[in-house]
Amino acid sequence: MIPSAVYTGVFSAGILGLLIGSFLNVVICRLPKMLEHRWARDYHEWAGTAQAPSEPFNLWTPASHCPECSQPVRWHHNIPVLSFVLLRGRCKQCRGAISLKYPLVELATAGLFALCVARWGWTPAAALWCIFSSAILVLAVIDWETTLLPDVITLPLLWLGLIAADMQWSQASLPDALWGAVLGYLSLWSVYWVFKLVTAKEGMGFGDFKLLACLGAWFGWQLLIPIILLSSVVGIVVGLALKWLGSQREGGYIPFGPFLAGAGFLCLAGKPHTILNFLAL
Ligand SMILES: [Zn+2]
Repeated sequence: MIPSAVYTGVFSAGILGLLIGSFLNVVICRLPKMLEHRWARDYHEWAGTAQAPSEPFNLWTPASHCPECSQPVRWHHNIPVLSFVLLRGRCKQCRGAISLKYPLVELATAGLFALCVARWGWTPAAALWCIFSSAILVLAVIDWETTLLPDVITLPLLWLGLIAADMQWSQASLPDALWGAVLGYLSLWSVYWVFKLVTAKEGMGFGDFKLLACLGAWFGWQLLIPIILLSSVVGIVVGLALKWLGSQREGGYIPFGPFLAGAGFLCLAGKPHTILNFLAL
């Protein structure tokens, strides 16, 4: 029988996940724009041209506001999931629709945090896997929306995976994690170049190599092939479904990052050999 303290711990992790998920929504919305601002500034510095002055823009400034009417969002209209349900998915002021993405990201974070604490308890390992889950979730959504996988998330996540392996907080030994990172990067890098030389097109971005390097660092090189297989199969199915539904984006490009992230979540949820057995069927 599972002691009630375990349920309390998992429930508390879910609540913490809802709150962190609310912050992840801010990162998902603002990080791509912050990067655009930085690229514009770098360009103007390089070109020696004057840049029009702009308001400060970061994760904290300006305060949360409705994208339709620009009215600030009051704290009691910003409670994860609950406010969305009470407001029936509409802005209190202008009744403009609020994206379903916000409660979904919050619920996904809650589920991932609960999963990590159910598996590792309230331990440093659980905290690290919560960080991993948050980063992968943010990357998946940003990549889906903008086809960007920001270095500011992938590179620290890669280093953290290697440190976690050395501290024995992840499920890979340090040599397995190191080779996971190296082979993860090189495998997609090779696919990229073969595809480019054969078709003269770019099949994926450099962010995909870094994301697979991260997954290799966190899960070890042994899970790279299952991750690539799972993400490719699901990616092809989703791609065909979007084509069939006629809801492809411009150019028909589908980012690979969300599918890599999805395979990463499967590795987190199941024991690695379960996934290998599943694929062997
Ligand atoms: Zn509004």
